[in-house]
Amino acid sequence: MEQYAHVINGKRHEANEYFDVVNPSTGGLAGRAPAGGSKEIDHAVTSAKEAFKSWSKTSDEDRKAACLKIADIIEEHAEELAHLITREQGKPLSGAGSRFEIGGTLAWIRHTSNLSLPVEVLQDGPEGRIEVHRKPIGVVASITPWNWPVMIASWHFLPAIRTGNTVVLKPSPLTPLSTLRVAELANQVLPAGVLNVVTGLDHIGPHLTSHADVSKITFTGSTVTGKKVMQSSVDTLKRLTLELGGNDAGIVLPDVDPKEVAEKLLWAAYNNNGQTCACLKRLYVHDDIYDAICEEMVKVAKNIKVGDGLDEDNVLGPVQNEQQYRKVIELVEDARDNGGRVLIGGEPLEGPGFFYPVTLVADVTDGMRLVDEEQFGPATPIIRYNDIDEVITRANASDMGLGGSIWSADVAKARELALRLECGSVWVNNHGAIQPNAPFGGIKQSGFGVEFAEEGLREFTLGQTLFC
Ligand code: NDP
Repeated sequence: MEQYAHVINGKRHEANEYFDVVNPSTGGLAGRAPAGGSKEIDHAVTSAKEAFKSWSKTSDEDRKAACLKIADIIEEHAEELAHLITREQGKPLSGAGSRFEIGGTLAWIRHTSNLSLPVEVLQDGPEGRIEVHRKPIGVVASITPWNWPVMIASWHFLPAIRTGNTVVLKPSPLTPLSTLRVAELANQVLPAGVLNVVTGLDHIGPHLTSHADVSKITFTGSTVTGKKVMQSSVDTLKRLTLELGGNDAGIVLPDVDPKEVAEKLLWAAYNNNGQTCACLKRLYVHDDIYDAICEEMVKVAKNIKVGDGLDEDNVLGPVQNEQQYRKVIELVEDARDNGGRVLIGGEPLEGPGFFYPVTLVADVTDGMRLVDEEQFGPATPIIRYNDIDEVITRANASDMGLGGSIWSADVAKARELALRLECGSVWVNNHGAIQPNAPFGGIKQSGFGVEFAEEGLREFTLGQTLFC
């Protein structure tokens, strides 16, 4: 089985010890990752700090060219990377799976590479000239999760290096292999030390995020861990971007055609098998069409094939890891015990992988765990409502504020209601669609700071105002 290496100071850095990365479809080995510790983190941070001295002074054009070359190299290795993602993460090769993840990575890298942050002239006249310059921050620590390992890694490292920072990235120990491989490829065009990746089992994240030589942290993961990351930034006042979980509400008005929206609603909830931060996680449906929506969604769900992602017939793979799999089982059991009606699914599938079917649960309401907690997996609560003002209040009652959606035939009315939802992104007749040219980020306990577009790029810079 293939053994991967840390990527430190432009080189593969072998380890003394390795850990097994499990294929969630088979329970077998996906590969072995290096078990690094504080020594490797320190080495990577020192390398990044040294590389910052020259990389931060490289011209904007040269940085852009290097970033675009990274996209070309990833594209040349697209099939290899897609298979690796499927083996360690579980998502299917086809559909919105690992090939799609590589396609998204390329789109984001290319769009972001072509952005720049020119000097802003605020004033230029007899009173003097005022300019705002954007400068790189320093060494960026990036901590990534297991749901979109390569795409989220690119969302972190690409804008960082595009703006002249250097990076030490620590992927989730559940999906480290594809990130290590991407770093190896990117290092074919980057100077040594600009992008480093260290993996480990031993909770090496806190050592990285509290490191005195790290100036900014970009983190994607749970709210609980995000708070710890924030605490670790205090001593040296590190800059932070936190993209945490969500519990997005989708509200369906009585004027929609259930046959028309059912499939879209289902895929809004099942993007990456529900393991995406901005999936539709609480579905509120008006009483007038509640039964019809449930019926139509079940019809769509019945035809979705779940299984090993390497089999191209499968549309959804397993839940990525045992902890998440147990959580989904527990939340569905809790809903059933409290009067929830399982319309389809509701029982784990035969192993050895962490397979769970598409599960729709009706007759649930706020206050039940499946509604109040982020399930982050294939189980959707469908909640009945009667009054639009009341349901907006219920949707906004969450501590989370990542995304939300309104579904209606009356787009003008839907827009108005959408703007009343307390969340960073809101969609009309859609949910979770993101683009590299549109800022994305959470409010409330879904985090702060934004990713993507110029606004996201700016987060990797410090402003300096020049009066002359
Ligand atoms: P975590 O937030 O626990 O972990 C995410 C990353 O943070 C991992 O690389 C982890 O590595 C690292 N980490 C953990 N503790 C610290 C720390 N104190 N300082 C620095 N880094 C740390 O997510 P999980 O993978 O455990 O998933 C748990 C929940 O998070 C899910 O159920 C889901 O609700 C949510 N989630 C949200 C995602 C999103 O896109 N917003 C993505 C994935 C999960 P290590 O374990 O080695 O410490």
